[in-house]
Amino acid sequence: CQTNGTTEDVMMFDDVYDVIVVGGGHAGSEAAAAAARLGARTALVTHRRDTIGVMSCNPAIGGLGKGHLVREIDALDGLMGRVADAAGIQFRMLNRKKGPAVRGPRTQADRKLYRLAMQAGIGAIDNLDVIEGDAFDLAFEHGRVSAVVLKDGRSIQCGAVVLTTGTFLRGLIHIGDKKIPAGRVGEEPSVGLSSTLLRHGLALGRLKTGTPARLDGATIDWDSVGRQGADEDPTPFSFMTDSIVNPQIECGVTRTTPETHRIIAENLKRSAMYSGQIEGVGPRYCPSIEDKIVKFGERDGHQIFLEPEGLDDTTVYPNGISTSLPEEVQDEFIRTIPGLERVRILQHAYAIEYDHVDPRELKLSLEVEKIPGLFLAGQINGTTGYEEAGAQGLVAGLNAARLASGAKPIEFSRTDSYIGVMIDDLTSRGVAEPYRMFTSRAEYRLSLRADNADVRLTPAGLSIGCVGSARASRFDRYIKSLEQARERLKGLTVTPNEAEKVGMHLNKDGQRRSAYELLSHPGQSVGNLSRLWPELQSIERKVVEAIEIEAAYAVYMDRQTADIVQARREEERAIPPEFDFSVLSGLSNELKQKLEMARPKNIAQASRIDGMTPAAISLLLAYLRKTGAAEQQQLVS
Ligand code: FAD
Repeated sequence: CQTNGTTEDVMMFDDVYDVIVVGGGHAGSEAAAAAARLGARTALVTHRRDTIGVMSCNPAIGGLGKGHLVREIDALDGLMGRVADAAGIQFRMLNRKKGPAVRGPRTQADRKLYRLAMQAGIGAIDNLDVIEGDAFDLAFEHGRVSAVVLKDGRSIQCGAVVLTTGTFLRGLIHIGDKKIPAGRVGEEPSVGLSSTLLRHGLALGRLKTGTPARLDGATIDWDSVGRQGADEDPTPFSFMTDSIVNPQIECGVTRTTPETHRIIAENLKRSAMYSGQIEGVGPRYCPSIEDKIVKFGERDGHQIFLEPEGLDDTTVYPNGISTSLPEEVQDEFIRTIPGLERVRILQHAYAIEYDHVDPRELKLSLEVEKIPGLFLAGQINGTTGYEEAGAQGLVAGLNAARLASGAKPIEFSRTDSYIGVMIDDLTSRGVAEPYRMFTSRAEYRLSLRADNADVRLTPAGLSIGCVGSARASRFDRYIKSLEQARERLKGLTVTPNEAEKVGMHLNKDGQRRSAYELLSHPGQSVGNLSRLWPELQSIERKVVEAIEIEAAYAVYMDRQTADIVQARREEERAIPPEFDFSVLSGLSNELKQKLEMARPKNIAQASRIDGMTPAAISLLLAYLRKTGAAEQQQLVS
């Protein structure tokens, strides 16, 4: 049931879909693919088929914390990791010199290759139709979402809906004092759905984000800027990718100058942000250049990465100078930057304001509490970034498909994934500014590493049914090799004297130590141990890396495992959405009010509320037990 969107072929939708996903961005693509992987008959309704997978802002995937999310999406057989591998043109492992828990895989992407690879991924899924159109309203039956109504009057029936409208809900572009209603530059905003959500009593807020100008790389003086190259041996995102085949490129590095700062400071009042025209709050960790100059005025320069947008595209993305200053001020300040003196600007920078829904309106499954059958994912929930959007899309897609088939929702936990951390943060704390992922948000980060996302999540994906057979057999092979290697290392032992012969200095206590134990010593590696046991050289690289990390962290993991067991127990104790906290006699009015405001979804969320004491939690637990209100949540693993 597809249409190419031309007026001649407006069609009646006799078909009923299990799941309709609105929006073909990063959340929508993962949501549609995930729902379809579970076997749901799925439609992806989006403005234009050819904008599926468009990267609205920076042409890059991954980074610190974000790279973990991509690996987790991949572990559940999502698309983003494989698409990034197909489009990546500068792979770098960030924080390589730090511990494995905080390493972040990142790649710059060829914008066109990324979009095309995502479209190919979506196109290859059997029970997934793409329908071009503007979703304008929702229809309801028996208090539950039953159809998506398009602006041209078509209505498509379904069992559940996932909205992933990104920056499009009442989107408004700002360039100086110019205001242009748009979802992204050159694309119409989405207006109808904001009214639908408001009509159903949802709390909406306004946020903003910005993007820098795009430059013509042929007019940049590359000889006068620094260079940053890719890793020599690029590490793919996907556990399914054997190697990266795209040529790897360098990007340029330059800095703003005191002259740049003077021009920006003199024109601050003309910036949409500083003239009071923008009411929405912007991303603190991705500030505009005027923000940097106001907040860090003492610095004499800010670094800018000149990132080529593609292998056959001369467009350059100057990472670090997003702004909402008028075009003529942009023309002036950009040309004060070394290397950009004669640059041609292809598209000016802009800021965009848009509606988002307070994510505290959502259950942990990403279903809206007040609107059964409606799920939200991505920028609409107050997040920023492709990876955060993709990860939420996957969860919403899985749960929409499960709801449509009558199955219980799947919930991710802070103890099993960054996905769980993000959803717990969003639904319990809401957002005061666009939310982005960092490793510091995860309290169990020694266990939640990018390198072990498959071991953490693929088994759960297999039991949910969202992991295909190719990944299942590859994963099975990998786990077997891991177990064999571990056993082998535990079976090889050495005395301190024997070890000394190859330069290893151990405590002279006469004790035999296994190769596995030796790996927990700082700086030890399988490569080094193979001087004692040359047969270790035959273990494949990925297995070696996993075992080295596992052995190095073993002593810390016992402690963390105990914390995780406790945290999971608290997360599994659900508090019903309608629970009346005012009946908790023995609790101070202040705590009752805090609980009422935060409406925690489980005991773990309640215990993180500021001022909550162990005694108050015991009281709450006792009451839940007495009334039989406590439910067991179904966590992902
Ligand atoms: P999007 O990728 O925006 O996709 C939304 C999709 O929904 C589009 O395909 C659209 O056509 C479709 N759609 C919307 N409404 C409807 C409707 N009613 N009917 C049918 N289809 C509809 N992220 C960062 O991490 N850092 C940044 O600095 C940054 N800057 C940004 C600057 C700008 C100007 C913009 C626009 C985005 C920026 N982003 C940034 C955000 C990043 O692009 C998003 O986080 C990410 O794209 C969100 O993915 P999404 O799937 O939620 O939405």
